[in-house]
Amino acid sequence: MPTPPDLNGHVAIITGASSGIGAGIAERFAAEGMHLVLAARREEKLHELQKQLGPDVETVAVSTDVADAASCTRLVDAAVERFGRVDVMINNAGNAVAKPLAETSTEEIDLQIDVNLKGVCYGSRAVLEIMKSQKSGFILNIGSICSVLPFPNYASYVAAKFGVLGFSKALYEEVREDGIRVHCLCPAAVNTAWSSLAGGEEGLPWPREDRLQPSDLAELAVTLLKLPKRVNVDQLTVWPVCEPTC
Ligand code: NDP
Repeated sequence: MPTPPDLNGHVAIITGASSGIGAGIAERFAAEGMHLVLAARREEKLHELQKQLGPDVETVAVSTDVADAASCTRLVDAAVERFGRVDVMINNAGNAVAKPLAETSTEEIDLQIDVNLKGVCYGSRAVLEIMKSQKSGFILNIGSICSVLPFPNYASYVAAKFGVLGFSKALYEEVREDGIRVHCLCPAAVNTAWSSLAGGEEGLPWPREDRLQPSDLAELAVTLLKLPKRVNVDQLTVWPVCEPTC
């Protein structure tokens, strides 16, 4: 049996690392000995995470707004300046507003498209030059079960997340011959702060402990990363057993 690739020393950028799934992925990657570039708007939360990970983990915190293309470019520049390469880009930052479209403001629509969809486009574009020059790279975009199912009261979020899935598949076709893999991970209910933003406990009725945990998705991210470079899982939907699939 060939041994899976050793991730020790690999460089990963994680957007939305200040909480939830992003922080969970950071913790799991740190355990693999990876170097981490942590991005989000709340820099103080990134510093808390750096402290929690401890001095043995090489990390940089970069205050980033993924809805701003220039901010995404600065993020990747900071990663290259510190570590000289980028092996992994996790486009995870997201937000959601759960309400009927008729009650959703223009600003709320724009924010969901800007962060959830454009943020993934900007983040992915920003790493292409370095990944192409390395002839290798791994881009993991966090979609959602809303990338494949039309949940009511989430129309603009669903639009953005369907977009993330389509974007991921199209980008993969553009870059696979450069040795760059592009995956879209589409989780159902996860136990994070997002769950409260997206309509509170009544929005997601399952007990928090029964939902997917950030650590479950982090484990999947590591599993995908450790697959041989000839393998690309373009789309992976993940459910907690408590949530019906239809
Ligand atoms: P959290 O609310 O815990 O985390 C969201 C993260 O995104 C935070 O770190 C936040 O950081 C960051 N973020 C939000 N807006 C921006 C921005 N403009 N620029 C940079 N960072 C930003 O929720 P989750 O961990 O659950 O969400 C992570 C991803 O998972 C999202 O894409 C979400 O859509 C997706 N998802 C979540 C599910 C769930 O049930 N929780 C289910 C399916 C998908 P900060 O505020 O510091 O900028």
